[in-house]
Amino acid sequence: MAPTDRDAAAPGALPTLTHVTVPASPATAGPTLPLRPELAGLEPYGAPQLDVPVLLNVNENPYAPSEAVVADVAAAVAQATRGLNRYPDRDFEALRADLAAYLLAESGVALGVEQLWAANGSNEVMLHLLQAFGGPGRTALSFAPTYSMYPEYARDTSTAWVAGRREDDFSLDVDVACAAIAEHRPSVVLLASPNNPTGTALPAATVRAVLDAAAAVPGGCVVVVDEAYGEFRRRGTPSALELLADHPHLAVSRTMSKAFGLAGARVGYLAASRALVDTLRVVRLPYHLSAVTQAVARAALAHSAELMAQVGSLRDERDALVRWLRERGLQVADSDANFVLFGLFEDRHAVWQGLLDRGVLIREVGPPGWLRVSVGTPQETRAFQDALVEVAGL
Ligand code: PMP
Repeated sequence: MAPTDRDAAAPGALPTLTHVTVPASPATAGPTLPLRPELAGLEPYGAPQLDVPVLLNVNENPYAPSEAVVADVAAAVAQATRGLNRYPDRDFEALRADLAAYLLAESGVALGVEQLWAANGSNEVMLHLLQAFGGPGRTALSFAPTYSMYPEYARDTSTAWVAGRREDDFSLDVDVACAAIAEHRPSVVLLASPNNPTGTALPAATVRAVLDAAAAVPGGCVVVVDEAYGEFRRRGTPSALELLADHPHLAVSRTMSKAFGLAGARVGYLAASRALVDTLRVVRLPYHLSAVTQAVARAALAHSAELMAQVGSLRDERDALVRWLRERGLQVADSDANFVLFGLFEDRHAVWQGLLDRGVLIREVGPPGWLRVSVGTPQETRAFQDALVEVAGL
């Protein structure tokens, strides 16, 4: 059982392999360490994934790569291994060209190689953004409920964190968003679209309004649209990639962890203006993307049509799951992602635990009363539905 990303941390009585509490005061046993005060007493993320038959808790793609992909990735890794005595291409230009070609095919947006950036997961892409544009005396703004790592990127870069509010249906009110930007004058605005944990995508008009408000911030403000789940958007939902040409202060972040089914490879990327990408080259550690990672990503991108083949069926599964939950009288947030937020439960933890007792792990996350389930294979979704009927008496 390997620890996974932050998303795997489900509250409740999870068995944990590594629960290390950093000493909060010198009175605690152990040497005195000059820990930054804002980190004192915090627990590092360390919850393992539970070894249960149906894992629907971290929005992974339930389909493993095919044997054809496995063979090509293995051959590419073997080739990269022959050169591991040398540092890798620091600027990974071949990978950036492949990513640009993929985005052209996926979204119809043509981008130059110099407009692409990549790192070890979009988590690291975000950290690069906060390292470049956040920092002491600066503010990052987002709108809750949203991805639980955002405040941690801010904390780790000594950036002040402000969470504005989404509406009750998890949409973002344009006036509320623009007023928050005018009030807090952030240097970074983070918008997840589709949002996690709600699944809600933002209309292009909202993103445009936020971009205009950000352009008016004295000193400048970068708007990051996190499209980690972008490929799952419903037909007619635009990608913010379409806004890049007119907005040099926009960054659109993507990942190979979700639609591509490559969460274990740790490859995230972004598209932005050349000027913005050039600033990220300043803060990245030299050779941050290993030759092996670059080789895996490029071999996988060569199979993008095949790797993305399940995206359509996962979308259909998602829409069917939303309908099924609504037919049973539950509230369900509109979803453009590969997961569904549903509720409301008086005791959501009891429902979460009941599902776990039946071998189905979902995520206890979001506002009180809500639960989130990832879209699995048809068999996994069926197991979730059967367990939920038993546990919640639907
Ligand atoms: N953004 C959002 C909204 C996410 O939900 C996640 C993962 N759960 C990420 C970014 C990070 O993904 P990764 O680092 O695997 O690319």
